[in-house]
Amino acid sequence: MRFFQPLSQHGLARVLAETRTRTHLSPGLIAIEKPIKSDGYSGFFDIVLPPSYSSTEKNFNLHWNILEAKKDKALTTSFSHSLQPFYPSSVVAELSEKDFQSYTEKFLELEDAHKHIYTLPISFINSAHFDSVLDTDVSLISLIGLDKIFNNQRKLAEVLIGLKEKVSPDIAIYLPGPTSPAHYSFLTYMGIDFFDNSLAYHVSKKGYFVLEDKSYFLSKHPDCYCQYCTQDPRNILGHNDLMMKNEIAKVRFALEEGILRELVEKDIHKSVTFAATLKHLDNNYSNVFRQRTPIISSSKLKCIGEESLTHPVIIEYRERIRTRFEPAPGKKIVLLLPCSAKKPYSFSRTHMRFRGAIKKAGKQIFPLLSEIIVTSPLSVVPRELENIYPARFYDIPVSGVWSEKEIEITSRLLLDVLAHYPKNTKIVNHMHGHGYQQIVDVVKEKTSFEVIDTAVEKSPTDQNSLNELGEVLSNLSKDLMYDREKYVPSKIRKLQATADFQYGKGTGQILFSRDIKIRSKYPKDLQIFREKKHIATLSSRTGYLSILPDIAQEIIDTTLNKLEFGAEYVSGSNIYAPGRIKADETILPNDEIFIIHENRVIATAKAIVSGVDMNKMTSGSLAVTKKKLKVKQ
Ligand SMILES: [Zn+2]
Repeated sequence: MRFFQPLSQHGLARVLAETRTRTHLSPGLIAIEKPIKSDGYSGFFDIVLPPSYSSTEKNFNLHWNILEAKKDKALTTSFSHSLQPFYPSSVVAELSEKDFQSYTEKFLELEDAHKHIYTLPISFINSAHFDSVLDTDVSLISLIGLDKIFNNQRKLAEVLIGLKEKVSPDIAIYLPGPTSPAHYSFLTYMGIDFFDNSLAYHVSKKGYFVLEDKSYFLSKHPDCYCQYCTQDPRNILGHNDLMMKNEIAKVRFALEEGILRELVEKDIHKSVTFAATLKHLDNNYSNVFRQRTPIISSSKLKCIGEESLTHPVIIEYRERIRTRFEPAPGKKIVLLLPCSAKKPYSFSRTHMRFRGAIKKAGKQIFPLLSEIIVTSPLSVVPRELENIYPARFYDIPVSGVWSEKEIEITSRLLLDVLAHYPKNTKIVNHMHGHGYQQIVDVVKEKTSFEVIDTAVEKSPTDQNSLNELGEVLSNLSKDLMYDREKYVPSKIRKLQATADFQYGKGTGQILFSRDIKIRSKYPKDLQIFREKKHIATLSSRTGYLSILPDIAQEIIDTTLNKLEFGAEYVSGSNIYAPGRIKADETILPNDEIFIIHENRVIATAKAIVSGVDMNKMTSGSLAVTKKKLKVKQ
């Protein structure tokens, strides 16, 4: 039985596997403090344990004592576990292959109760001996030697990715020894769960004053008004310790809010190596993060720096548009529009004016028209998907200047989306400015579509441009016939596109035919009915759907959100790892998933971890049950 399990991904915020209270344990700071009762110092997890655990399961505290005489040695860079009551007694970062082997063999021979904490020197991550440790019930890996490669971006990325891919998320990772609080967010994002406050002892003794971005000499530093500095400015240990706790609290909050990546994008500017490492990770290992980052969310997505172009959720969004978006049938005109600061775009002044111009072409234009909003960093947002996360939730600094990379990424996705339209489709370009023009130039150069520009001279909201748009659409609609049989009203079309994006291509048409009825209006959740039966709800908060188990049965052969379960029915409110047979690896945390047994949907649930991690975990909860199929008695 393992102790930990991840809760919110984007990093790994672990909770005790056995508790349903979902108390976050990580990122945690292991506090090294002088205990009241005994001599010496002790280390324990600086967390609040659920009451039932703190009273009965003392071992959960992972508590160890460091004698006064050994304190100095223990609290410096050579911080070792030499006096902890659990195995291993002591391991150095530079072990020989032979010593590592014999140490690991000894660990494997231990009784199960003592096999919970294992110290791993980073050079042995790829060793087969370490693989056999992962096959045990080990709960916590103490990683040593990482600080030695903090200035080597390539190696740092390789080690941390290796660990993330190899180590199941129900095993927590502890980085012992002095670590600057400026690095907490990045290291948490990379999968480290626990740090300790040994840095406070280490730097205080040398006379350094730690602030969130860097350390200062005690003789010259910015003023601080914390409780320690106000009482006694010489008590820097108290101040430094508090700084670390505050930084951990910030990271934990960002994790809970689902905005850790944004914090990382901000924090990496404090370290040249970490900034380079993030770039290296995004360019070479984006899959590892994409697979674990929720796409169902309702938090604001701030896209400030160039790093946002490779944000995992943005990459996932583009990939789903590329592989899951299919234009509605019968569309003969694609209208390219610029984005607006206000979201959803339809609610903005500029888009309302576009709407007005489109209407002038007459009602018959709508069945023919497909609207595509071109924007960075998302690249392409089809109108029918403007309400989902992240399309409705991102913020960018508007400068009007596009970088080479933005132009390249955006035009590539636009070409892929346009490739789904018939060859004789007319493209109306109602965008203005150098960046947009370059994107449209790529379309003109690489496709045979006829492109008509309506806002080249003046801005898209200029009355002349709007008049031209209305005229062009009006003329086009006179020549083009629409197929009444194929026409799907835009409200239904939105549901279909959302289902395809969320559950997999083709699911939308199965679930939402023309005879459905929709009740309630934005901003309330939409209730969707078919033959008077309530079949689905569209959340106005996230823009995503939830459906009932018997409705999910209709898309069982098409959907990518399946978790095959070992029992005939689900009891309780959680799906636990031991019941899992196989999960679709396309599942992301927060996704609505379908629990199936022998090809029958027995429940719907909300994923806690990704499908990739579901298949790795041996303990803990994988998903929280939403609706169960009613069992006939
Ligand atoms: Zn202070």
